[in-house]
Amino acid sequence: MTHPWIADRTTAFHSSGIRRVFDLAAKMENPINLSIGQPDFDVPLEIREACCEAIHQRRNGYSQSQGIGPLRQRLQQDLDRRYGHADRQVFVSSGTSGGLVLTMLAMVNPGDEVIFFDPYFVMYPSLVKLAGGVPVSVSTYPDFQIDLQRLVDAITPRTKMILLNSPSNPTGVVLSTESLRAIAELASQRQIALVSDEIYSTFQYDEPFVSPATFNDQTIVIDGFSKSHAMTGWRVGMVHGPTEIIETMIKLQQYTFVCAPQPAQWGALRALDVDLAEYRDEYRRKRDSLVAGLEDLYELVVPGGAFYLFPKAPQGTGTEFVERAVAKNLLIVPGGIFSSQDTHFRISYAASSETLQRGIDVLRTLARQ
Ligand code: PMP
Repeated sequence: MTHPWIADRTTAFHSSGIRRVFDLAAKMENPINLSIGQPDFDVPLEIREACCEAIHQRRNGYSQSQGIGPLRQRLQQDLDRRYGHADRQVFVSSGTSGGLVLTMLAMVNPGDEVIFFDPYFVMYPSLVKLAGGVPVSVSTYPDFQIDLQRLVDAITPRTKMILLNSPSNPTGVVLSTESLRAIAELASQRQIALVSDEIYSTFQYDEPFVSPATFNDQTIVIDGFSKSHAMTGWRVGMVHGPTEIIETMIKLQQYTFVCAPQPAQWGALRALDVDLAEYRDEYRRKRDSLVAGLEDLYELVVPGGAFYLFPKAPQGTGTEFVERAVAKNLLIVPGGIFSSQDTHFRISYAASSETLQRGIDVLRTLARQ
């Protein structure tokens, strides 16, 4: 029985299965941990210094809800140069998650359908439900690319939004440019809002990142500093899109998150001048060694970005396979957490090369058993 004071909307979804994995990790002694969805490098020094300077300069109060002026102006300049769209405005959100919450609250009416792609980032279906919307998932198995016909078939008169995430969590797969263009054009023709979660855009390894906003100037883009600069605990994100929608989100931010933490925003301003090539190169190398270490024994799609690999469990369900891995002190995440099917598992290669090699050794042993 639910406590009588708890609101009905909270019962529409369960606490993230990933939390169960973290609880499991807490009980394991020194696990080979390939479950973590955040970079293993520290926040670059100059960003930490900029944040500390801001604190010492007494920049500790609320900022404007839309973000500190210098950060917003700099982001806006970069966007204007990149897209040249007549109507594209940016604001600073409280993390990418905050941006996602405000997007749903600002745009989804009760009963509106929101299409996203399975496997998906854990928050998507829950946030859609929180806003009273109806989550509609479209499978991308087995290659994790989007089949346009499957998307077209999922569209109904109630479809309000299509939510994209490339590079993807949990698969690391990057959507092809033709696919991004086709989806962007379809959304535009059908007057469906296209929302693009681009939090992994800096970690793309084989070709430059392409946003669907390039092909659809009404696209709402959600991005942030958590993954690119290892600032997961700082809670700085951003959303950009048509002015009226962004203004609505800023209005909602005033009454929810208020603002992103001010000192962290000064850090984020400095972050925009940090060259991330060395981090990208490092993760590319780790991706390559993980793929080379597993591809003869596992069915997998070579990921073009993020820091995840999503192979198929060689026998049994994803959950059963993860239990076998945990018994060998390896922590990975069952694919059922990100999907309606429990057939795969997620490896995060945001880990030291030594940890990664130990993980590969265990996975090779498990596949041969
Ligand atoms: N979107 C995706 C696809 C993610 O993987 C994550 C973090 N795991 C987020 C959004 C949320 O990021 P943030 O820490 O900035 O809230």
